[in-house]
Amino acid sequence: MILSAERIRLDAKPGSKDEAIRQAAQLLVDTGAIAPAYVESMLRREGEAETYLGDGIAIPHGQRNDRNLIHSTAISVLQVPQGVDWGEDKARLVVAIAAQGDEHIEVLRRLTEVLGDSALAERLATTRDPGLILRTLDPDAAPAGAPAPAMPPAASLEASGEGFSIGVQAPGAAGLHARPARALAGIAKRYDAAVEIRHGERRADAKSMISLLQLGAGANAQLTVTAHGPQAAEALEAVRAGFVAGLGEGDDDHAPADRAPEAVAPVAEEGAIAGLPASPGVAIGVIFRHRSESAGYAETAADPAAERAALDGALAEAKAELRQVAADMTTRIGAKHAAIFGAHEEFLEDPELLADARMRIEKGASAPAAWDGATASRAEALVALGDPLLAERANDLKDVSRRVLRRLTGASGDPDISVPLPERAVVVAEDLTPSETAGLDPMRVVGLVTAAGGPTAHTAILARALGIPAIVAAGPAVMELPDGTPVIVDGDRGLLRPDPDAAQIAAAEKAIASGRDRAAAAKAAAFRPAVTRDGHRVEVAANCRKPEEAVEAVAAGAEGTGLVRSEFLFDDRAEPPTEDEQFEIYRKLAEGFGGLPVVLRTLDAGGDKPLRFVRHPAEANPFLGLRGLRLCLANPALFRPQIRAALRAAKHGDIRIMLPMVDGLADLRAAKALIEEERRDLIAPPVEVGIMVEVPAAAVMADQLAAEADFFSIGTNDLTQYTLAVDRLHPTLGARSDALDPAVLRLIDMTVKAAHARGRWVGVCGNMAADPVAAPILVGLGVDELSVSIPNVAALKAQIRGLSRTEAERLARTALNCATAAEVRALPVAREMAHAA
Ligand code: PEP
Ligand code: MG
Repeated sequence: MILSAERIRLDAKPGSKDEAIRQAAQLLVDTGAIAPAYVESMLRREGEAETYLGDGIAIPHGQRNDRNLIHSTAISVLQVPQGVDWGEDKARLVVAIAAQGDEHIEVLRRLTEVLGDSALAERLATTRDPGLILRTLDPDAAPAGAPAPAMPPAASLEASGEGFSIGVQAPGAAGLHARPARALAGIAKRYDAAVEIRHGERRADAKSMISLLQLGAGANAQLTVTAHGPQAAEALEAVRAGFVAGLGEGDDDHAPADRAPEAVAPVAEEGAIAGLPASPGVAIGVIFRHRSESAGYAETAADPAAERAALDGALAEAKAELRQVAADMTTRIGAKHAAIFGAHEEFLEDPELLADARMRIEKGASAPAAWDGATASRAEALVALGDPLLAERANDLKDVSRRVLRRLTGASGDPDISVPLPERAVVVAEDLTPSETAGLDPMRVVGLVTAAGGPTAHTAILARALGIPAIVAAGPAVMELPDGTPVIVDGDRGLLRPDPDAAQIAAAEKAIASGRDRAAAAKAAAFRPAVTRDGHRVEVAANCRKPEEAVEAVAAGAEGTGLVRSEFLFDDRAEPPTEDEQFEIYRKLAEGFGGLPVVLRTLDAGGDKPLRFVRHPAEANPFLGLRGLRLCLANPALFRPQIRAALRAAKHGDIRIMLPMVDGLADLRAAKALIEEERRDLIAPPVEVGIMVEVPAAAVMADQLAAEADFFSIGTNDLTQYTLAVDRLHPTLGARSDALDPAVLRLIDMTVKAAHARGRWVGVCGNMAADPVAAPILVGLGVDELSVSIPNVAALKAQIRGLSRTEAERLARTALNCATAAEVRALPVAREMAHAA
C-alpha cells in the first residue's frame, strides 16, 4: 500500500515548514520506504520551488536524481490542524511523496479532488480519524462500497515523469479570453513541461494562445490543468498561482482592454441603419468604403526549405513591425491600448499555428498558402465556437495573418488607408483590423462604421482611444452605401443615418455642438496663458514628432514643444539621416515654432523604440540595456551628427537639447563634453542642455544633476515603469503602472525641489501631464511646464485656469501621503479638480 495508517500522523505541531517536512518524511523513513538521506533531498527540492498546492495542502517530494534513495513508492500524511507557514500560505495537510514509479498516481488523483473542495480539505485537516484520510486518498485502503471521490483526468508528478492535475476556474470577468489566455501561455512557456488545459471534452496546449481561445471557456468555467515533463510540478504551481491571481484580470476600474464598458442592444429608428455603439460621439461626414487588400500568391512551391526560410523571415519582420506599431500607439494612446499589438505578437509565436503552417509547407504548399491556410482554419474555428468575444479574436488573428502575408507577397508596411481619404470621411468597412484602425488619421476620419465586428473588438477600443465615433455590427447594408454618401454617425446610440434631411443634420449638429462646447471654450481661450486663479503661471507645451506638427501645435495654443521625440523622425529608414538632413528638419521645427522653445530630445532608441538603422544588441532586457543616451554615447558616429545638426539649427529658433535616459552624472558629463566639442568646432553659440528625469536614479540624484543640467523634464512613462517595475508595454499589468502611484509622486517631488533649489525649471512630458486627475497634482508639486499631445493643449490650459495653486498644493501633499494610486484617484478633491475647466 502506498499510504497506510502508520504513515499518517494526526494533530502534529511542527514549528516550521522544514520541521513539517522532516516529520512527514520521518514517517516514510520509519516505515522503511526511504533512506534517511532522502529527507534532505526533500528539503533541497522545497528550496528550489515551494510545493504548496492550495486548500492547505503541500506535497513535498525529493529531487529527481535522488530516486535511488527510495526503497518503495510511498506517501505519508502529516496533519497539522493549526497550520504551518508555507511561504505565504499555511499548510494543514503535508503529503510527503517518495515516488519511484507511478504507483502513487491514484493517490495523487484523489488529492486533486480535495483541492477545490474546501469542506473536504477542512475535514481532512481536522479529523481525529486517520481512516478518513486513508479512505479519501488511497483507493486500496478504501473498503468496498465506501464513497470515493470522482476522478479527474489523467494526472502525474514531475518526479516520476508523469503528469499531475489540478482543477482551476476560468477568470470571472469574461472567461479565458485573449488577455488571460496570453498571460497563461506566457506562464506555461517558461517551463520545460507539456501543460494541457481541459474544458469538458476540449483540450488545449497551454503554450498556444489560439489553442486556449478555442477552448471557449467562459466566465468561471471549470478547467483541469495537467502537466507532464521535468518541470511539471513547477509549471502546475505557476499556472495555479496565475489562475488564483486572475491571469491579469484585475477587478479594478480599468476595464479589460478587450471588453466594452457595457453590453448594448441595437436601437431602431426609421431610415437609419442600426448597429452597436462602439465609440461615443456624433459625426457628420461622407462615406468612404474601405476594403482590405487581398494578397495573391501561388498555392504550391517546389522547395520546402526555401518556403520555410521565407516564412521565418516574414514572421521576424512582422514581429519587428508590430513592436514599432506598439511603440507608436503607446505614444499616441497609451500602453494599455497598445498592448493589443503585444497580443498579436503572441500569435506569431503560437506553437500550434507555426507547426501547422510548417506541416503544410512540407506537404508542398507555398509559404503564403501555408500561412494563410493555417491562420484561416484557426480563425474559422474561433468563429465557429459562437462566442462573440472569440469571434473578435478571430479578427485579430486575420490581422496578424495579413501582416505576414503582405511580407510574403511583396507588399510592405502597414495598410495606409489615410492616403486616399476625403475630408470628413466616415470609413465604412466589412471589418477593420486593429492595424487598419491604428492607421486612421483622426484629422480626416470623423467616423467609423463596420458591417461586422463587435463593441468589444480591439478595433472599437482603438476607435475610443483615438476619439473617433464608431458603430460596429451594422450589417451588410452599410457596404451598399456608395462612396460620398452624406451620413450622420451616432456613436452614442449606434445609428448610421444615410442622406439625412436638414432637420436631422440640425439635430446632429446640436448634439455635436453641445459636446464640443467645452472643447470650443477651451480652444477659444487656447492662446491665453495657463494662469491659476491665484496667479501662478504654468507653461503648457506640446509633444511633437515631425516638423509639420509645429504649426498645428502653435495653432492649438502650445507655448512651444517640451519634447520632440527625434527618433520618430527617422523611424522608417534603413540608413541613419545625414547631418544635413537632420539640420533641415530641426531648422523647420525651430522656424515652425517661431521662436518658442523647442526641446529637442536626442535619439532615444532602444527599449520599446527599436530603429531599423541602429544595430541594437541582443539583450534579454532591452529596457534595461543600451537605450537612450547610453546607446548614443556608445555610438558617437550616430550621436555627433545629431548634435551638430541641432547646434546649427539653434540659430533659427530657440532650440534646447535634452538627453534621454540619463542615469547619473557620468553620462551627463560625457554627453556635455561631446556637445561642447562640436559646439567649438562649429563656432556656434551655446544652447541649454537639459535631461529627462525618467530613471529613478536621476530623480534620487536630482540635487547633483541640477548643478550641471540646465533643466529637467520628467518622463513619467519611463519613470513609472522603472519605479514600479512594470514594463510599460506589459499586456496585463497596465492597471499597476499608474503614474499617480505615490512612489512616483514622491520622486517627482524630490526632482522639483532639487531643481528649484538650483533655479532650474522642471517640466513633465510623459502621458501623465495630460491626465486631468494628475495635472493639478503636478501643478501642486511645483512643476513649471506640462508638455502634452497637441489635442490636449487647450483643455489642459483651461483646466489650469480653473485651479487654485494653493488648493493644488494641498492636494499634492495629501496625494504624497496616500498609499496607492487608486487612493489618490479616489480623493474627492482630486476628482473635483479634474473637472476644473
Ligand atoms: C517618458 O518616458 O515619459 C517620455 C516622455 O519618453 P518616451 O515616452 O518617449 O519614452
Ligand atoms: Mg522615456
